[in-house]
Amino acid sequence: MSREQQGDRQDIALKQSQEALLRCQASLARARKLAGLGCWELDLASGELTCSADVVSLYGLEDCPAPLSLSDMENALLPEEREVMTQAFERLPQTEGMVSLEHRVPGPERERIIHQLTEVERDPGGRPLRLVGAVREVTGLRRAERKLELLGQVFESTSEGIAVSDGEGRIFMVNSAFSHLSGHSEQDALGQSLSQLNTHPQAAKLFTQIWEVLGQEGYWQGEMVSQGPDGQDLEHWLTVSAIQRPQEPATNYVWALRDISEIKRNEEQITYLAYHDALTGLPNRMLFNDRLNIAMAHAQRNKLTLAILFLDLDNFKNINDGLGHATGDQLLQQLAERLTDLVRDEDTVARLGGDEFIMLLEGKRDPQYSVRVADRILESFKKPFAVGENDLHVTGSIGITIFPEDGEDLETLVANADMAMYRAKAQGRNSYTMFTKAMNSKIKKRMAMEGALRKAVEQEEFTVFYQPKVELGSGGVVGMEALVRWLRPDEGMVSPGDFIPVAEETGLIVDIGQWVLAQACRQAQQWHEQGYDKLHISVNLSPRQFQQKDLVPTVHGSLNSTGLPPQFLELEVTESMVMNDVDDAIITLEELADLGVELSMDDFGVGYSNLYYLKRFPMNTLKIDKSFVQDITSEPDDRSIVDTIINMSRSLKLKVIAEGVETNEQLKFLKDLECDQMQGFLFSRPLPPEEITQLLASEARLH
Ligand code: C2E
Ligand code: MG
Ligand code: MG
Repeated sequence: MSREQQGDRQDIALKQSQEALLRCQASLARARKLAGLGCWELDLASGELTCSADVVSLYGLEDCPAPLSLSDMENALLPEEREVMTQAFERLPQTEGMVSLEHRVPGPERERIIHQLTEVERDPGGRPLRLVGAVREVTGLRRAERKLELLGQVFESTSEGIAVSDGEGRIFMVNSAFSHLSGHSEQDALGQSLSQLNTHPQAAKLFTQIWEVLGQEGYWQGEMVSQGPDGQDLEHWLTVSAIQRPQEPATNYVWALRDISEIKRNEEQITYLAYHDALTGLPNRMLFNDRLNIAMAHAQRNKLTLAILFLDLDNFKNINDGLGHATGDQLLQQLAERLTDLVRDEDTVARLGGDEFIMLLEGKRDPQYSVRVADRILESFKKPFAVGENDLHVTGSIGITIFPEDGEDLETLVANADMAMYRAKAQGRNSYTMFTKAMNSKIKKRMAMEGALRKAVEQEEFTVFYQPKVELGSGGVVGMEALVRWLRPDEGMVSPGDFIPVAEETGLIVDIGQWVLAQACRQAQQWHEQGYDKLHISVNLSPRQFQQKDLVPTVHGSLNSTGLPPQFLELEVTESMVMNDVDDAIITLEELADLGVELSMDDFGVGYSNLYYLKRFPMNTLKIDKSFVQDITSEPDDRSIVDTIINMSRSLKLKVIAEGVETNEQLKFLKDLECDQMQGFLFSRPLPPEEITQLLASEARLH
């Protein structure tokens, strides 16, 4: 081979190796670019720094004058990190291996985090020649790492219990709240599914449902009950979300638990308050109604009966007004306890408000049970309620209805029990009354009458009839009893037996009685003026009237305004009226007697007939009740009663009059027994004043 040829070959080889080197450099540069790596070299002898373009740009060295030095690179760093780099590079020539450094470089827009690995290049003798560094920006990576770290901290510190599972529900990650809430340690939970961990009887069904919904919607939330470590029920709000990548089946699930026992407790408290009476803790009307509705449905299916007891205290208002509401409240609380103790656990005692209580007695076939409970309640009132320093006595009135006889729905049953309770009150309180259909229509009639009666008082629909009293000895008319009549429009004349009790209960009797009194005095005075000036007039007083504080002035006023001398007015009272409070009654009776009017004891024999008291009352006359007179001819007992009353009257120096004399036989008996006077249909029925005037005229002609 010629020299030339040799030279050519060498050129070609050189060119080829240069080309290979270039290719190699290019591919190295490409690899570095792809990997995001920059590189630099520091010549230790000259201190000259050579950087790849990306290092220049990463450290922002574009404006530094050439040649670059290490301090240019150091100055690019945040001041507090420069020292670290300087020291590391100073130590590096004395050590083997690499130095790994990470530092922050402030940039025009954002701070960068740069990682570099640096090593020393040495000559064959081991003397350090250069520092060689590979540089990579790790800002994004560090941010992502920080984010992950934060997420991890959030995961751990959140109060929600979180478990992450695979697609089959097997848990591979839990936070500490999960262990705390579920009672399963991380160790227990890992590898298990939540359905395996939950041993509550209802859990299996719930999880079947959860998986079904998850399959369709990838999301489920709802309440989950599980068993706590001590066997107690734990209530959680569970949210399950599938972690799904688009178009891929779920690969993971997140199970988040929230403690809702507090919310549940609050809910229970709110429900409790809505359904209970705050003062006594008893069920209120709403809960009572709920229970009654359920009980009625149950009773209907099983052909059972139910009883409703409606209780209202008789004199609670006095206690509240007199001793204050705090005392009243305490009494109600004690009463609530008593009532609850008197019934079985399955019965309901509720407070409707005020002093009204209602009871539901369930499922007994024995209707007597309700009566026994009512008896027990009334019996329990005998024991006083000890409130503070007071021993309080109360009584109550009870109305009873039975389902289904007395009402097939809640409203009717309760309304009828209420009505029966009012009936019990009207019958003298401290008693119970069973509701009956007859009572229902009677009460409706009564209420209608009450309304009509009020109108009657306003429009003066009353009139007074008079019934003569005859002296048995002379046979002459010596007096008249004034008897009120109600001329009810469209219904004709109503007798006092039908409306006086209603007037009495409503208090209307006071006005009616006053009107009758004035009317009777006026009429008597008229008869006196017509010449019948020995005639006495008797007027009935009602219990209410008798209790009126202004009774004496009222009587006085009637006498004054009509001019009738007081000795011709006789007021009829009954035993029950005066026996309620004997001392007060005596005072009133004496005041009346002081006015100069006469007093007579009506219907004698049917009431207390207490002789001791009779002696203390300033009475002038006894009226033997007509029930004795009626049977005087047939019943020996009645005859001896009448005999006794007449003898007693004699010894007490009282006049005696027999009422309700209808037959001549009765009259004969009374004459034989030396009764003073008689009054009855035999002589005359009660008549309007005009007819009495005629009767008096014909009587006068006779005598
Ligand atoms: P009382 O005061 O005992 O009146 C007698 C009642 O017996 C009257 O009934 C009278 O009509 C009735 N009577 C009289 N003779 C006979 C007889 O021979 N046979 C029978 N079976 N009955 C006879 P009346 O008028 O229906 O009054 C009933 C009750 O109503 C009275 O009983 C009295 O308690 C009350 N009353 C009547 N008017 C008034 C009044 O103005 N004020 C008050 N507070 N009560 C009155
Ligand atoms: Mg009378
Ligand atoms: Mg009478």
